[in-house]
Amino acid sequence: PTIRELLSTGQPSFSFEFFPPKTPEAEEVLWRSIREIEQLRPTFVSITYGAGGTTRDGTIRVTERVAQDTSLTPLGHLTCVSHSRDELRSVIGAYAGSGVRNILALRGDPKGGPSQPWVAHPEGLNHAVELVELVRSLGDFCVGVAAFPDKHPEAADLEADAQVLAVKAAAGADYAITQMFFGADDYFRLIDRAAALGCDIPVLPGVMPVTNIKQIERMAELTGMALPKPVTDRLNAVAEDPAAVRAVGIEIATELSDKLLAGGAPGIHFITLNRSTATRQVFRNLQSAVV
Ligand code: FAD
Repeated sequence: PTIRELLSTGQPSFSFEFFPPKTPEAEEVLWRSIREIEQLRPTFVSITYGAGGTTRDGTIRVTERVAQDTSLTPLGHLTCVSHSRDELRSVIGAYAGSGVRNILALRGDPKGGPSQPWVAHPEGLNHAVELVELVRSLGDFCVGVAAFPDKHPEAADLEADAQVLAVKAAAGADYAITQMFFGADDYFRLIDRAAALGCDIPVLPGVMPVTNIKQIERMAELTGMALPKPVTDRLNAVAEDPAAVRAVGIEIATELSDKLLAGGAPGIHFITLNRSTATRQVFRNLQSAVV
């Protein structure tokens, strides 16, 4: 099924994001997590597209195996980084060949990370919207895009982010998934801004339970994600105790997800970092709140 169809049921969607592993050990951890997530019968699972050549092959391989060996619906991410149009066409063809019809069309971060200036491949694409158009032109794909409740580092302001989302929707994006964030109000403000521009595609909020304070600080620095003081205060209060950090991280993610769903978000997209335990706990907390 397409994610467009899965999101049209009116039921909240729950999805989980993984990245392609680099070692045999990491591969084992990933597949254990995928099997555990499979039991939760999520709406879909997504596989990120890495910056280096080897993880890119890994994306196709993992996505293909999810499509063929599990009952899960896979979403393959794809970025424009270092690819010509022809190479992008062949990756999209590889997805289609392995039965993957759901693609998340991204520009990708500049080589060297989000702090570097973006440089397009000379025969490639400059913005995600062009990739939406390319994927759409190549067949019957369901296309998702990225959205940013906290400002994208290169965007002039939050209004510009909403405009880019509206342009991507107008080009044929069926839905969006957001960068992870902590402020439910920031998400709803993005939805309101997009709606004011006539953009009403479903926007799935990205949620990651924090299990490691240093890691989340590094991610915030890289992506421009806001780390609200009440969140860091709660985590720092237990910083010496890794189990407590984890418990607080799960609590914060549960509260955020509750607020998002209560306010009308169409579901939650969980970033797992390939370890499913914390996200499964948040998922269970939400289910028990629903029952
Ligand atoms: P775009 O929509 O092209 O936006 C990039 C910048 O250009 C923004 O500042 C935007 O305001 C500006 N812009 C866009 N269109 C125009 C225009 N027409 N005119 C002027 N300015 C414009 N990265 C990976 O490498 N691999 C992944 O698998 C991956 N998965 C992700 C999944 C999600 C859910 C999200 C939210 C992000 C993901 N990323 C991934 C990160 C993403 O690639 C970066 O955030 C990247 O910097 C922006 O990608 P985009 O698709 O939003 O680009």
